[in-house]
Amino acid sequence: MSYTQEIYERVVQKNPHEPEFCQAVKEVLDSIEVAISANEDKYRRASLLERLVEPERAVSFRVPWYDDQNVVHVNRGYRIQFNSAIGPYKGGLRFHPSVNQSILKFLGFEQIFKNSLTGLPIGGGKGGSDFDPKGKSDREVMLFCQSFMTELFKHIGADCDVPAGDIGVGSREIGYLYGQYKRLTGLYEGVLTGKGIAYGGSLGRTEATGYGLIYMLEEMLSHAGDKLEGKTALVSGSGNVAIYAVAKAQAKGMKVVAMSDSNGYIYDPNGIQLDIVKDIKEVRRGRIREYAERVDSATYTEGKGIWTIPCEIALPCATQNELELADVQTLQANGCRVIAEGANMPTTREATDYAIEKGIMFMPGKAANAGGVATSALEMAQNSMRLSWTFDEVDKRLQNIMIDIYHKTADAAARYGQPNNFVLGANIAGFEKIASAMLAQGVC
Ligand code: NDP
Repeated sequence: MSYTQEIYERVVQKNPHEPEFCQAVKEVLDSIEVAISANEDKYRRASLLERLVEPERAVSFRVPWYDDQNVVHVNRGYRIQFNSAIGPYKGGLRFHPSVNQSILKFLGFEQIFKNSLTGLPIGGGKGGSDFDPKGKSDREVMLFCQSFMTELFKHIGADCDVPAGDIGVGSREIGYLYGQYKRLTGLYEGVLTGKGIAYGGSLGRTEATGYGLIYMLEEMLSHAGDKLEGKTALVSGSGNVAIYAVAKAQAKGMKVVAMSDSNGYIYDPNGIQLDIVKDIKEVRRGRIREYAERVDSATYTEGKGIWTIPCEIALPCATQNELELADVQTLQANGCRVIAEGANMPTTREATDYAIEKGIMFMPGKAANAGGVATSALEMAQNSMRLSWTFDEVDKRLQNIMIDIYHKTADAAARYGQPNNFVLGANIAGFEKIASAMLAQGVC
């Protein structure tokens, strides 16, 4: 049995109730197998893979809070500090009812490779809670965030672990979390990223993941002799990543005809009017269906189904496992030739394998959505220097980072004889740097 298979079986045995984590480990181990077998003795002697799949630390804690009727609720909070070989743990906080240890371990594991690909000194981590901010008042969200941070602050710090936002954690939540951290520690430091511009945030961080996705897409298409202009695209989700992916896609001359939320999707053959989506989602925290009530040319359909709309480029930007085999088959039959993941692991394993096998250009999230964490690392750098860069300065660095990630990914894929397999390329390129740092630091 190969080393990677052995480790995967052990992971399944030790984590039988963590399907998403096992899925993420399998995807990575399968694709780095060629790189492992070339150096197997060295890695086995150091038990490198055994250490790589075990978080350095996982904390779970009680989060009690009062609602507006003075009823006490209890949620569960987590922080998974997965790997600090190349820098302080870095990765978002997710507040969503589906959050559990499996999901956060999958996200933390993916984050190790993504952060490595950025070329910046950041390790991998993830955290969050099964708390649902949807439908809660600002006061309730604040009380929850204060309670969450009252435990979390013991485990984080500017040089140790720097959380950020993710699903359900936007600028409002980061503000409340930061206020409580400051109150508890008396420190004004860059312990969270995604902060407001008035108190240490970086210009360009809000836009970074979505913009970065499109910069990566542009580089990928240009190497295939193609361009973004005139292409029709579907973008799932209507949160932070989706909105700024649509903004940059439209600025580059693409036509985005559909977006979604967890209830359903809108289709506007004239092209999505993003200012209306932003008003519904960012200002009024409403539902995507309201778009069709305001725009005559649009229709709203309840439920899944966004991938049945014909397009050339599909950008899944909502959540994990939202793009299944049948969806990719439908996309392909309708002429889709490119998939780039804005979300983390939005495509199932079978769907990913099918896309690559059929020659659909497929860029995995750990490369395509790395612009967010990369810009978070730029925010950390600005905080350490007590400086603020201009939007253009940050955006230029973001563009260079995304172009660099594309080349690292494509080069690794080509080095291992599979030039069109960017999943393999991204995993290997990310892994090589981590492995060399872990080996250099001895058994720890
Ligand atoms: P947001 O909370 O801002 O938006 C999430 C969007 O996805 C919403 O439109 C939400 O709909 C939809 N959604 C969530 N869960 C589901 C579901 N089960 N089915 C269908 N739609 C769903 O999150 P982000 O935009 O920040 O994150 C989106 C994805 O991108 C996540 O996978 C995240 O991990 C990843 N990511 C985010 C980064 C960032 O910088 N924000 C960086 C890198 C990756 P609704 O409003 O109905 O809940």
